Amino acid sequence: MSGISGKRIYLSPPHVGGEEIEYVKEAFETNWVAPLGPHVEVFERECALHSGRTAALALSSGTAAVTMSAILTGIKPGDVCFCSSLTFVASLAPFAQLGAESVLIDSEPESWNMSPRALETALRDAEKSGRMPRAVIMANLYGQPCDMDRILPLCERYGVPVIEDAAESLGSAYMGRPSGSFGKFSFYSFNGNKIITTSGGGMLLSDDAGAMERARFLSAQARDPAPWYQHSELGYNFRMSNILAGIGRAQLKLLPSRVEARRAVFRKYYEAFSETSGIAFMPEPEWSQSNRWLTVMTVDPEKTGVANLDIMKALEAVNVESRPVWKPMHMQPVFASAKYYGHEGRDISGALFARGLCLPSGSNMTDDDISFVIGAIRDILP
Ligand SMILES: *Cc1c(COP(=O)(O)O)cnc(C)c1O
Repeated sequence: MSGISGKRIYLSPPHVGGEEIEYVKEAFETNWVAPLGPHVEVFERECALHSGRTAALALSSGTAAVTMSAILTGIKPGDVCFCSSLTFVASLAPFAQLGAESVLIDSEPESWNMSPRALETALRDAEKSGRMPRAVIMANLYGQPCDMDRILPLCERYGVPVIEDAAESLGSAYMGRPSGSFGKFSFYSFNGNKIITTSGGGMLLSDDAGAMERARFLSAQARDPAPWYQHSELGYNFRMSNILAGIGRAQLKLLPSRVEARRAVFRKYYEAFSETSGIAFMPEPEWSQSNRWLTVMTVDPEKTGVANLDIMKALEAVNVESRPVWKPMHMQPVFASAKYYGHEGRDISGALFARGLCLPSGSNMTDDDISFVIGAIRDILP
């Protein structure tokens, strides 16, 4: 047996609306197939408008945006940066690659995002030792914003710039204010698995016009204003192509409906399992309006008789993709020597990894798809 009539149900597949091809056609017809071009400029303006930021820079990936924020915050070898432990590696890899030492911060149970308490302890220790972080990177996990009103004033008090990793949370809001509008820099990802996609791309956002001009310069090979190719410093080739920006413009128009669809997927899983003993879902605090990019549940094997990985295997057997929660960075071999601050002496992110399972959450899932996944999970629960 496999999926519904043999079709694989993916965790978070791309969802094309139809108008994308018109924008791509326009790029071809005007010969703006490369590089940059009018779609890029408009897409940047539209993303700035969406986030309420004054400046946006379209890049080849979300990871490129992290690299740019690392450079713009002045990361040097030997610097320290703080980052949520429960996230995808790209939240902090560019900082580490530029020589920063990573300090990893646990999640709070209320939002699964960076624990303000653990962060406060880490900041206090950093002050004592005279090694303040150059930046704090907070990731909005699975679409859920961090508790901004607790994290931002804390970082401000210590004078540490914040980078908001909104790769997964485009379309979400914190107390009504859009994800991607917080911190010194923020960014979206348009990777194929995100809520909207350009097939691959990212958007760096900020209200610091000077820093964003510098990012624009560095991300396009750092060319001096001269008639020939002249370089006084070295840059990167990080810009988004005009074709991909065209796809992004069509996708961005669909964002509200994509958020609604993902939230509806969540509601169906929730209705099916919220009463099941041992199963819980990622909470949504009252200050959060999550896009529910992925529906994530936790499984308590003592109550359900099965572990998250058992459910994953059972789903795979019927051609349904699911995944454990991000393996926290403090458990990754590559960050084995990194310092880790748990939440109130606990290891919340480790526990979420041990029990969490991300369920298929695509905005193009049909009711039959969702019922099929729900049925397959029911089949394995005692
Ligand atoms: C996807 C993702 C990124 C990286 O974005 P890319 O566009 O894939 O480079 C960074 N952080 C988080 C939390 C992500 O989920």
